[in-house]
Formats: sequence, structure tokens, C-alpha cells
Amino acid sequence: MNKLKDLFHGDRTVLSFEIFPPKHDGSIETIYDTLEQLHDLKPDFISVTYGASGSIADNRTVEIASLIRNKYDLNTAAHLTCVNSSREEIDIVLERLHQNGIENILALRGDIVPDVPRKKDFAHASDLITYIKGKDYDFGISGACYPEGHPQSPDTVSDVRNLKKKVDAGAEHLISQLFFDNQMFYDFVDKARIAGIDVPIEAGIMPVVNKKQIERMVSLCGASLPAKFTKMMQRYESRPDAMRDAGIAYATNQIVDLLAHGVDGVHLYTMNNPYIARRICDNIRSLF
Ligand code: FAD
Repeated sequence: MNKLKDLFHGDRTVLSFEIFPPKHDGSIETIYDTLEQLHDLKPDFISVTYGASGSIADNRTVEIASLIRNKYDLNTAAHLTCVNSSREEIDIVLERLHQNGIENILALRGDIVPDVPRKKDFAHASDLITYIKGKDYDFGISGACYPEGHPQSPDTVSDVRNLKKKVDAGAEHLISQLFFDNQMFYDFVDKARIAGIDVPIEAGIMPVVNKKQIERMVSLCGASLPAKFTKMMQRYESRPDAMRDAGIAYATNQIVDLLAHGVDGVHLYTMNNPYIARRICDNIRSLF
């Protein structure tokens, strides 16, 4: 099994997937079928999100990352947020990750949840990375980045400066927030390289297959929508099959363009939907 940074070498483009754990009251079994099908698509790794509350009790991230690593024999990264956790709580998760043989952590601050009282130990993802690096483990560490700037950043320049702090703290690989305009990503990568950020940067691609999904996503992350994207939504929003096929085609076109520009990697937000992931992989497999 690999540290994620070691997957990036030569001209090779990495393909990775992201999944989320089933809801707290749902059975863990529901993820087996999803993983079985995603495994057949041979991604370089699958990452598993961490519940926004930061509560250890509610989180099944370690359990699912362990399945990916130990049952499906795939590289994995466990997401880990810190803003709602104490050092002691983070210690418990780190030890569980280590015990399960999980080598990689996507270290995140996490969103500020209005109803959840914040703990004081970690303010930024870079604090979590410094904390993990100071421990007696050997995790590969990744971080998040934002082609259009993090919503709380006053501008993209200060956001890239803060990203540099995250990399200097020990992030060896970055995964981007979703975007629908590739030029935003290319401009961001240029800025990051000028700022001296030289770790691999994966492009986060979310296939949008229904209107409700995009409304939620855009309100959460503020991604801008190019005219050709909104026209597509307007034209097909009342025809679910057409909307799904158009969303798959749009994501495919984004990936083809990213590959032509020599992107380090493509991280597909699968939304636990192996059918959509398969359709996209069928379209692009020979290009990797
Ligand atoms: P940070 O890197 O801490 O950045 C947050 C803000 O603080 C930014 O505005 C930044 O410019 C600023 N900043 C950063 N460092 C410093 C510093 N040292 N000094 C001053 N300012 C600083 N959320 C979840 O709850 N669970 C998940 O599993 C999850 N997975 C994600 C995966 C990806 C690929 C991405 C892009 C996001 C994910 N998120 C997840 C969402 C993420 O938690 C939020 O976007 C959160 O608001 C910021 O997290 P971060 O790690 O990027 O924060």
C-alpha cells in the first residue's frame, strides 16, 4: 500500500474517488455494494469523508477506510476534521487509523457548524497537520485547496498564502474543491506554483446529475457556474435521464480538458453512485 504522494510520478495521471459513510442509522452493509463496484473501476485510491460534527461516536470513516484498505486492497485516505475536536479526540482517531493500517489522512479544518460549540485546540488545517507530524506515526498527509478561494478568504491571494502554510506544515498532496470552469483551476495552479507550492494538486470533479444537488453544492462551496453549464441545467432540469446524461458529458469534457493540460490527478466526487462513476470512467479510461 502507498503513501498518496508516491502515486504521482512521471507523466502518469492519478484517478481517485471520494465516498461518504452511510448515514448513522444506516447499515454499514449498504457501502459494500458501492465499494465492490468502485473497486472494479481500479482507482488509484478512494478517500472517505468525515462527518461535519467532528463527533468520534458518529463517525464511520475509519471503519470504511479500513474496509477499502484491508478487504478491497486499495489505497485509501481517511478525511479528518479538527475544528470541532479536542487533541484527545484526535489522538483516539489517529490511533484507530494506525491500528487499521491506514497510511493516509486528508487533514481538514472542517466547516464551522453554527449549533456545535467549537473547541479551542485547532484553528486551521495547518494546526492539525503540525500536530499529526509531531506524533510518533508516519501518515502521509493531504490537504484541501480551493480554485476559487475558500469562501471565508477575502481574496485568492491570501488563500494561496495560507495554502502555502498548510504545505509547509507537511501536506504532501492537495485535492481541490469542485469547480465547473477549468480555467479557474488552471489560474489557481499557476498561482500556487508561483507561491512555491510544488506538491501534486488533484482536480476535484463532481458530476452534477440533478438540479437539487447543484443548488445545495453551490450554496455550500460557492463554485461559479459558466453559462454553458446553467444553459444545460435549464434545458434538462425537468427530464431526469437527460439531466443525468448531460451531467456525465459535462464532467467527461472537464476531465478530457484537464488531462490535455497535464493535470496531476482527477478526484471524482462519486456521491456513492457507482453507476455514474462507471459511465465517466468508460468515457475516459484510455486517456489516462
Ligand atoms: P483551512 O485550510 O484551515 O482553511 C480555512 C480558512 O482559513 C481559509 O479561508 C484559509 O485561507 C484560512 N487559513 C488557513 N490556514 C490559515 C492560517 N495558518 N492562518 C490564517 N488563516 C488560515 N468537510 C468535512 O466536514 N468533512 C470532510 O470529509 C471534508 N472533506 C473535504 C474534502 C475536500 C477535497 C475539500 C476541498 C473540502 C472538504 N471538506 C470537508 C470541507 C472543509 O472542511 C471546509 O471547506 C472547511 O471550511 C475548510 O477546511 P480546510 O481544511 O480547507 O481549512
